[in-house]
Amino acid sequence: MSQNSNPAIVLRKVGDIAIEQRPIPTIDDPHYVKLAIKATGICGSDIHYYRSGGIGKYILKAPMVLGHESSGQVVEVGDAVTRVKVGDRVAIEPGVPSRYSDETKEGRYNLCPHMAFAATPPIDGTLVKYYLSPEDFLVKLPDSVSYEEGACVEPLSVGVHSNKLAGVCFGTRVVVFGAGPVGLLTGAVARAFGASDVIFVDVFDNKLQRAKDFGATNTFNSSKFSIDKAQELANEVEKLLGGNHADVVFECSGADVCINAGVKATKVGGTMVQVGMGKNYVNFPIAEVSGKEMKLIGCFRYSFGDYRDAVNLVSTGKVNVKPLITHKFKFEDAAKAYDYNISHGGEVVKTIIFGPE
Ligand code: ZN
Repeated sequence: MSQNSNPAIVLRKVGDIAIEQRPIPTIDDPHYVKLAIKATGICGSDIHYYRSGGIGKYILKAPMVLGHESSGQVVEVGDAVTRVKVGDRVAIEPGVPSRYSDETKEGRYNLCPHMAFAATPPIDGTLVKYYLSPEDFLVKLPDSVSYEEGACVEPLSVGVHSNKLAGVCFGTRVVVFGAGPVGLLTGAVARAFGASDVIFVDVFDNKLQRAKDFGATNTFNSSKFSIDKAQELANEVEKLLGGNHADVVFECSGADVCINAGVKATKVGGTMVQVGMGKNYVNFPIAEVSGKEMKLIGCFRYSFGDYRDAVNLVSTGKVNVKPLITHKFKFEDAAKAYDYNISHGGEVVKTIIFGPE
């Protein structure tokens, strides 16, 4: 493709992805940077928009460029840019908050109501040749970190954020429900932060097998446990913790039985972080939350410092994201990549789309 084109992977409507030419963006804010996108991971949210056209209050009403898990190379910088230079390889934090919101001023910019987040309607995503970003939402990648690994920094930042919210540190006993990409990375970060135990619980043996590459000290298959067996599931998990309750539970599945078992497995005064999204309403053992004065923490994306810490975890080898990447596609084959993700959900963990060249 020529230098003068800006091909983009566009979700035109539900079930319809096509390559379209978009104008090459021009820098009109002196703190902005123009990037050539090199690698992008497919996220569950992209698949959701592709299949159903919406997530909660975010509804696809017009064609939108997909992608928000990207790395790239700096090709042009605005006049005031000091943090990066042309040629730098970077991970791109894909959400830019408003500096005018109270949430941003309070230090929780991830909750800013005016957040412009890539590939969340109506904001275009990063699956394009040239993309603009403010310089302070880029983290440089050392040469030892590949562009594919750089694309995995986005979901890894969710793991960093959730671990910081829970206060995981040396010796923490952790249970992770759900061994999808975010669950795996959350467990891997917990181990890197010093957790002594990281027990993964999932219903698929192949996912639990993979968890061994992501810091699992033990795993448990919960497929035989329905919602009325939540206490039994919690008991099994506690056995794997040497008869102890968990200090911290990361609920990354969104499944009722896991949410219930998570509360039951948490120690008195312990913490459960709800990372996964499932149904809007669940049957919930609220009396137990009160009775043991446990903390239940919500978790949404990532905030200041999380992206930088995620890059450091990768570059220092404390978290290895490579086993996450199971499939790779060329930019031209992006529509195929999305369809493959849907038709082979059981085998795909993270798909990377390269380029365009
Ligand atoms: Zn994502």
